[in-house]
Amino acid sequence: METILVKGRYRNSRILVGEKLELLEEHLPEEEVYIVTDGHVKQLYGDELPDFPVYVMEPGEAAKTPGTVSHICQWLINEEAGRDAFLLGIGGGVVCDVTGFAASVYMRGIDFGFVATTLLAQVDAALGGKNGVNLDGFKNIMGTFNQPRFVVCSTAMLHTLPEKELQNGLAEAVKHTLIADKRMFNEIRERADDIIALDDEMIKKLVSHSIRVKSDIVGRDEIEEGERRKLNLGHTWGHAVEKTDGIPHGQAVSIGMVFAATLSEEKGLLKPQERQELINLLHSLDLPLQSFTPAEKVFQALARDKKRKGTHVHFVLMNGIGDVVVEAISLEEIGAFARTIEKNM
Ligand code: ADP
Ligand code: ZN
Repeated sequence: METILVKGRYRNSRILVGEKLELLEEHLPEEEVYIVTDGHVKQLYGDELPDFPVYVMEPGEAAKTPGTVSHICQWLINEEAGRDAFLLGIGGGVVCDVTGFAASVYMRGIDFGFVATTLLAQVDAALGGKNGVNLDGFKNIMGTFNQPRFVVCSTAMLHTLPEKELQNGLAEAVKHTLIADKRMFNEIRERADDIIALDDEMIKKLVSHSIRVKSDIVGRDEIEEGERRKLNLGHTWGHAVEKTDGIPHGQAVSIGMVFAATLSEEKGLLKPQERQELINLLHSLDLPLQSFTPAEKVFQALARDKKRKGTHVHFVLMNGIGDVVVEAISLEEIGAFARTIEKNM
């Protein structure tokens, strides 16, 4: 088991990589612990959960709503949970988001922690102190910045994860290597088979690597003014593909990273061979490289994004492998570029 300390603006968080569910109670207060999980996780691990009251939410993104947060608060009232209560989320990114938000607002804030059970939550969603829910089609439009007391990344629990969910996490883990660590990028290339087979040592290495890259960046910029934008590599295009193709987040990010690599090559920042290495790696992890929807239509979805202001986007370009630069690029330029790749396909 490895412990990584993440420094937040208001408080620090401990990330425990590889900690076992049985040892969870060592990190919990003795009483007044309330557990939030979802139906799948309850079904798979219900018997192993510590003996505290459990709220079971619906699995999946559709339950990431203010309604679920209200239900959890009502449940806590019924349970007579006070200011000293501790809320423990056990599940993927959705459970962690909802738990973090509910804990941040119940009685103006109670303590909380997570057991992250999906690879995506372990390498990305459960870190960084963002807790949000969706409203009226706007993702994470209501939320808080608040660090959990701890995040347990239970790599043993990944063995029950469906393959598609695993891929979601792998895409974000690859993203972290592209942002900050060429050596780890090469290691994933060499050991892609071990990763897919969930070799414990390799998965722990991958998870702790991702945590270090992300927490390093978040530590420098907790509320997204500059440095944190680097974590959006592959996401500008990826979010649009997520909408047009209706595919899971990580798969869309994979396609978004290929788009960013292609644009970076066009701008002379990335060598053609480096772009090819990325494509080969994503392919070996069985991640998609191209959207079903024509690039022109993906671009239209990108341009329609209502959260954006102005005519430019902060686009994350690859500066070789292991380094990125954020550039303000006009929508016009992205549109023109999307049309050229369309022709070359
Ligand atoms: P995310 O992919 O953001 O982490 P979710 O919280 O929606 O999102 O989790 C994805 C799906 O995986 C959900 O259906 C959830 O119930 C399920 N799940 C979470 N953890 C496990 C696990 N260890 N084994 C099997 N299924 C899991
Ligand atoms: Zn993402």
